[in-house]
Amino acid sequence: MADNGESKPSAWNNPEFRPDLAFPQLTEDMVERLMAYGREETFPANTTLFKQGERQVDMYVVLDGEVEIFLPAVNGEPKVIASHHRREFSGELNLLTSQGSLVEARTVSESRLLRIPRHELQRLMRAEGEIANLITSATIWRRIGIIGEATGGVVLIGHAGDAEMTELQRFFVRNSYPHRIMEAPAEAAPAEDVLSDAESTLPAVALSDGRTLQRPTITQLADELGITELPDPEMIYDVTVVGAGPSGLAAAVYAASEGLCTIVIEGTAPGGQAGTSSKIENYLGFPTGISGQRLASRAQLQALKFGVRFAISREIITAEQIDGIHKLTLAGGIPVCSRAVVVASGAQYRKLSVENYAQFENRGIYYAATAMESVLCRDHEVIVVGGGNSAGQAAVFLSGVAKHVHHIVRGKSLAATMSQYLISRIENSSHITLYTDSEIVKLEGESSLECVTWINRKTGESIMKPIRNVFVMIGAEPNTGWLYGTVRLDKKGFILTGGSVGFENTPYATSVPGMYAVGDVRASSVKRVASAVGEGSVVISDVHRYLADHRNNFAAEPNSALAALRLASAAATPQS
Ligand SMILES: Cc1cc2nc3c(=O)[nH]c(=O)nc-3n(C[C@H](O)[C@H](O)[C@H](O)COP(=O)(O)OP(=O)(O)OC[C@H]3O[C@@H](n4cnc5c(N)ncnc54)[C@H](O)[C@@H]3O)c2cc1C
Repeated sequence: MADNGESKPSAWNNPEFRPDLAFPQLTEDMVERLMAYGREETFPANTTLFKQGERQVDMYVVLDGEVEIFLPAVNGEPKVIASHHRREFSGELNLLTSQGSLVEARTVSESRLLRIPRHELQRLMRAEGEIANLITSATIWRRIGIIGEATGGVVLIGHAGDAEMTELQRFFVRNSYPHRIMEAPAEAAPAEDVLSDAESTLPAVALSDGRTLQRPTITQLADELGITELPDPEMIYDVTVVGAGPSGLAAAVYAASEGLCTIVIEGTAPGGQAGTSSKIENYLGFPTGISGQRLASRAQLQALKFGVRFAISREIITAEQIDGIHKLTLAGGIPVCSRAVVVASGAQYRKLSVENYAQFENRGIYYAATAMESVLCRDHEVIVVGGGNSAGQAAVFLSGVAKHVHHIVRGKSLAATMSQYLISRIENSSHITLYTDSEIVKLEGESSLECVTWINRKTGESIMKPIRNVFVMIGAEPNTGWLYGTVRLDKKGFILTGGSVGFENTPYATSVPGMYAVGDVRASSVKRVASAVGEGSVVISDVHRYLADHRNNFAAEPNSALAALRLASAAATPQS
């Protein structure tokens, strides 16, 4: 049960926090069922069960006694954030992921506990629906509580608006990792033209174990914090899903829930393009809309519950098929072997063709308009570029925080490209001005964007304004560079599927046996969240059929298939 008084996490004082869901008590019957997954152990008082940073920690159910959960505090005095009594259990979101523990646990008195090891926990989550849902919901609410705590997670130190700082912050936000921002002292600001020593170490990330990573890469952070779980090189997965946008997450949930051994490889963060949307209002079941980030983290959690493994922040760079097994190679040369592959790698933003453009990316030019970016725009004038729904959503969302939104489109109206509900909101807003037939022609600024000029191509009228934030939402190109020469693509680079191209007669089969494509990356797909989710769900029945039909073709002994792959790789590696 939650501890009382001063030891409560500050989030508990938040009226939206649900302690009843964060700290549920199992019924006698549930504890009885859980006995099959663990073993009883008795621990003396003051035994540390797990420490902060420890990975793959087991789950403990209190049978008798008391377990305290605490966060090590900055001033050295640990802060107790919960205490578990009879029929309560330990663990937060890291029970379902490979992330290191954010908290520590120790027995208060001699305690009899049911210890459930991680591999058994995964079996439990699949087999015991009611208990699994209770644990899943508790882990989310406990993570929310820790996010509200001053000493939970990591500290990101740097300067607001700095491009690297923004990238790291986005990474933490999109992976729901607890973090605090600490503005670096002014003396660490960049010198006029030379970077000072202090500056060259920023942004930095202070970890809970006292170490500080200076200017870490996203991959380094993902590995360090256990946000990524690298593929097991000794394993042949049933299905590898490339991309964790809506289509990939749906494929992963369906595959794992139907018993397939599933891994998802995601280059950036779960959510894909949808993860950059401030509010999706046309997805079934969310009458007041849902942010792409929330939708993605719920879906990822659902996938984790069914035992999906996630390798985040590592792109697939090549794909080949050897003796019926697909060998995909991750950046850094790490291989992942799989019987079937679902390509859900979606698309990435198009850029404007303006001089100095790259210089201002993440320094005034953004491709997402979420709560995170909106902080930078408060009470400033901003520009949104694009005539599609994503640009419309951004303009409407930003008009609620920015001083004014200048919405620039190349076409003569929005009618052909945007949903009517968004057009009406834009037309009715006194905070949005629409500029049709217009294009940005000049970007100016020193270390970040300061001034923008755009021109009406019809009238020749030019407007220059001191604007520091531009949101570019002008469509996307397929993420298929890694597939050139492997599968058949259309002229624009989207993957051709089905019909005369597919290796089998389903809408999602590519030209390569055992490889399917879903969502935005697939030629002629409908570029929407709902259709991406639908395709990702449906494709798994094709995967099942393929695996069943080709069961005899896969080496009965997985090791021999792995050996064949290793031999083929060795033969392809140039000798020095
Ligand atoms: C700002 C914005 C707002 C939108 N709003 C709406 C809306 O309101 N309603 C709606 O229906 N649709 C909306 N859309 C469109 C919708 O988001 C997309 O149709 C949907 O996200 C497509 O899903 P997907 O899974 O196919 O691909 P994506 O969402 O593009 O996801 C693909 C994922 O694959 C990863 N990836 C790419 N290459 C590799 C690689 N080589 N290795 C590993 N990973 C890789 C990417 O990092 C990405 O996470 C919006 C799009 C944007 C950009």
